[in-house]
Amino acid sequence: MTVAVVGRGFDHRNVGGEQRGVDGPVAATVNRARQLLPPTARAANRPRWPYVLASPDFERVVQSNGAYCRTVVTAEAHDVVVVGAGNGGLSAAALLRRRGCRDVALVEPSAVHVYKPLQNYVGCGVARLSELTRSQAELIPKGVRWYRTSAVQVDGATGTVRCADGTILTGGDVLLAPGAVVDWGGLPGAVEGLRTGRVCTTFVDTELRRTARMIDTLRRGRAVFTVRSQPASGRETAFKPLFLACDSWRRAGVLDAIEVVLAHEDARLHPVAAIAREIARHLDRFGVTVRLGTSVSAVEQGDTVLLDGISGPERLPADLIHLLPPYAAPALVADSGLDALGTGGFLAVDPETLRHRHYERIWGVGDACDLGDARTGGALRHRVKVAVDNIQRSRRSLRLSRYDGYTVAPIATGHGRLSFGEYDRQLRVRRSLPVPDQIRSRRIWWWLDRYGLPQAYWHRILKGRL
Ligand SMILES: Cc1cc2nc3c(=O)[nH]c(=O)nc-3n(C[C@H](O)[C@H](O)[C@H](O)COP(=O)(O)OP(=O)(O)OC[C@H]3O[C@@H](n4cnc5c(N)ncnc54)[C@H](O)[C@@H]3O)c2cc1C
Repeated sequence: MTVAVVGRGFDHRNVGGEQRGVDGPVAATVNRARQLLPPTARAANRPRWPYVLASPDFERVVQSNGAYCRTVVTAEAHDVVVVGAGNGGLSAAALLRRRGCRDVALVEPSAVHVYKPLQNYVGCGVARLSELTRSQAELIPKGVRWYRTSAVQVDGATGTVRCADGTILTGGDVLLAPGAVVDWGGLPGAVEGLRTGRVCTTFVDTELRRTARMIDTLRRGRAVFTVRSQPASGRETAFKPLFLACDSWRRAGVLDAIEVVLAHEDARLHPVAAIAREIARHLDRFGVTVRLGTSVSAVEQGDTVLLDGISGPERLPADLIHLLPPYAAPALVADSGLDALGTGGFLAVDPETLRHRHYERIWGVGDACDLGDARTGGALRHRVKVAVDNIQRSRRSLRLSRYDGYTVAPIATGHGRLSFGEYDRQLRVRRSLPVPDQIRSRRIWWWLDRYGLPQAYWHRILKGRL
């Protein structure tokens, strides 16, 4: 970082030497600035240098003891800047390195990385909490520079990323992968219900122990499970806690004493007919009451859901309420003007090339993007490849690669059985593996999803070996 200092309250011609009337943070900043200057500029009594170096675009004001100085911070330049080190950002950074990009920066505030697909298993008591997380520091690919801070604004035209700690980065290309955020504000009463009521969720990692306990101890009454429309991270996997809970209650011999209700916002169980049929088969098997086209508009007193369905509003008291939370776009996108009309604040990328619709150097992957299809890690494996490929291709003026909308619907239909649906933008069933039918739930898909994919995630996907 290059820092130049201009201001009053000190003799700028003698930077790093005696600074009259200045101490504390200002003096420290001035001294730091001096260390960063080239030796020629460091020579004392060169009145021109602050002004020579004062040309960069960014400023921060530091005040101390009535004196002030303005530090002018020039940006750290990187070949590619990746924002967010979740599933998408980390695997993209690793793939960029594998493809020979020598200078990759990663902006990520969190010290802990969560493998979200396991949350459903931990929250249903079939995986341990310790399997869910790894230290971010261990996962940052070798040679990638990690800035442990949040991006607060991205300038699409210049490829400049401003960070919360004052760091400014510029990237030849900028790849945005800040995910989507849980927005409990969109569901009145949900937070109170989680705190003191009968609401639980496998979609928030801090709620998993409590959710597992609530499922485990329910013996009679009514359980309501919810599925929302887009945008929702891992939306289809919200069937996992429903089926796993039903299977646990069946095994404990209490399923008959529990009325299980599914409130599903869509008119169909799933847009792909074959997947919808498989879901319906298991809902029938467990005797679940299905309310299609029904949304939860509020939670009251922590134990009642307010349903809005075809037959109008209805209050439904319940002993367990499992919520798929409302999701929203990260504020960074709209704050940077990188959304567009109709994207709901999500990143306006071309759904095929993953390049921003207006800014050539901005790319997006993952839950933060407006891609109009399911937000899944399975989809990300393909998107990351396309985005990284296209960063390289655009630099060589080659035709860009295209993402076909591939995504997955891994749905555990009971303990030890899972339906592994794959489909694309046209809702055509896809098959990555040479087997005739992945949608019919089987033990092998359970083993793949519960044990195989977590290992593949830590050891291959996050290492850019997609
Ligand atoms: C409960 C659950 C179960 C799921 N199950 C499955 C499944 O079985 N199969 C499947 O394929 N998919 C599943 N998914 C979906 C999958 O986990 C997501 O699609 C995937 O994690 C999205 O990755 P991402 O990189 O876009 O976002 P994330 O993984 O959410 O990462 C975003 C990162 O960006 C960081 N960040 C945010 N804002 C900023 C900022 N301003 N500056 C810098 N960094 C920032 C965050 O700290 C975070 O680390 C599930 C999701 C959930 C929630």
